[in-house]
Amino acid sequence: EVGGDLLEPLVSGMNLLEGAVPGNVVTRFPPEPSGYLHIGHAKAVLLNDYYARRYKGRLIVRFDDTNPSKEKEEYQQSIVEDLKLLGVDPDVVTYTSDYFKAIFGYALSMIENGTAYMDDTPQEQMKLERADRVESKHRNMPPEEAKEKFLMMNSGKEEGAAWCLRAKIDMNSDNGTLRDPVLFRQNLEPHHRSGTTYKAYPTYDLACPIVDSLEGVTHALRTTEYNDRDEQYQWIQTTLGLRRVRIHSFSRVNFMYTVLSKRKLAWFVEQGLVEGWGDARFPTVRGVVRRGVNLDALKTFIYSQGASRRVVNMDWSKFWAENKKEIDKQAKRFMAIDANTNVPLKVTNGPAIDSNSYLSTANHPKDPSLGSRALRIGQDVILETVDVEGIQEGEEIVLLRWGVVKITKVTQANGNVGSLEGEFIPDGDYKTAKRKLSWMIQTGSNPIVELTEFDHLVTKDKLEEEDNFADYVNPTTLATTQVMGDAGLKTLQEHEIIQLERRGFFRVDRPYRDGKPLILYMIPDGKTKSMSGM
Ligand code: ATP
Ligand code: MG
Ligand code: MG
Repeated sequence: EVGGDLLEPLVSGMNLLEGAVPGNVVTRFPPEPSGYLHIGHAKAVLLNDYYARRYKGRLIVRFDDTNPSKEKEEYQQSIVEDLKLLGVDPDVVTYTSDYFKAIFGYALSMIENGTAYMDDTPQEQMKLERADRVESKHRNMPPEEAKEKFLMMNSGKEEGAAWCLRAKIDMNSDNGTLRDPVLFRQNLEPHHRSGTTYKAYPTYDLACPIVDSLEGVTHALRTTEYNDRDEQYQWIQTTLGLRRVRIHSFSRVNFMYTVLSKRKLAWFVEQGLVEGWGDARFPTVRGVVRRGVNLDALKTFIYSQGASRRVVNMDWSKFWAENKKEIDKQAKRFMAIDANTNVPLKVTNGPAIDSNSYLSTANHPKDPSLGSRALRIGQDVILETVDVEGIQEGEEIVLLRWGVVKITKVTQANGNVGSLEGEFIPDGDYKTAKRKLSWMIQTGSNPIVELTEFDHLVTKDKLEEEDNFADYVNPTTLATTQVMGDAGLKTLQEHEIIQLERRGFFRVDRPYRDGKPLILYMIPDGKTKSMSGM
């Protein structure tokens, strides 16, 4: 590593960028605006950003907008927003479409020097010929004729639809990507930026090596499944006399029970199986943030396998367990009681209902900087039915954050505990009590809270390319429970992450307002598997 001693040590899990010169590194993230960013893209952009920062270089975000049939302004806008959400601030934002004219010129020069030709072999036949290493009948077309066809295709003439430009590399290569790849094709759909100016567009295989070189990229990060294409990428740069760019490969990330392809995600949106691209069940950047993914946890997770070239099918529960460590540090604690199945407890020596008595309670047991709040106390307490099963007269229980109550009377109703009476014991023993319970004072000011829990959208752990993913759509992916919350929950803002004691961690999806329930989304902790037990 050149001058590496001036730099911060690599974060755990990352490797060095070969040949990186501090101050001169340029990386790029080239999303196609054909969908919203997902966590796979997050990996790619976070690695590019990491290297650009570590080597005091620059990060280019380049919209790879070469296919008007798939791309939209809406997607482009969403990518800008989601990069912000990820905390990525690109040094430059560019568009492949700004280079169309230049790329057109390079294509012409290839035709003129005989390194590219025009072909109208039908796609299926081309595929077979590639497999059999058979040359196209047009391979030796004279450059003048190829140029004429190329211009005709670019003029938008109908006849041009059958033609494409192909690189003349090596039909006999053991590397299939060198068997005369397609470089340019007609497409008459208007482009979201260049409109109808162009009638034919370069493929990624042609555009990417040209623009990487022109923009001064020093290190092109590519996923390992592109390894076969590396030679082709370099061939284009060499053939065009362009500056060569180093390739640094990293592995794709996949998650179990998760679809990570923009085309398939778009299908879920179109079918109405989710609310939209930002649905909390979606593996999009905005979806996982809405579900409660903490960005520090996400970054640590991505860096931790940044150097690994093995493609793994990640288990969500491992990620959620890491996520929990991070959110546990910041989540304020609240109590909640099931809104339908609860039991009244009369604390006979508690403060009278009209006394307006409160105690002060810490928002977080370990972090005083998170402050404290007033918690209402009184005689009319409610407890969760399941918490008091089998309770006996004489038993001492702990009301969390308040103190010890000795049960003096148990009244049964339909074979269950129907109601309780007890006596507050000011210096009671916390340690010996078996039951340490969430509770609440019965007042009109306890907000109704809707707890929402989600499940995976698909039922298969590892979806294969040949699987019809629509066969594996999970019919039930959402469950809700209503609880009564402590009044402190009313002050929460959208996106705050909290813990409901003994229930788990939640993210505020909709704050309490105008008497409408507070909506909390459950954040998985990597342990609880089923959609129940909230
Ligand atoms: P999709 O299959 O979702 O359409 P894509 O690779 O075609 O993904 P692009 O917008 O071209 O979408 O991707 C931009 C960058 O993100 C590329 O450099 C690509 O390698 C990277 N990327 C995409 N998916 C993943 C993934 N699952 N893991 C890591 N990197 C990914
Ligand atoms: Mg792509
Ligand atoms: Mg793809």
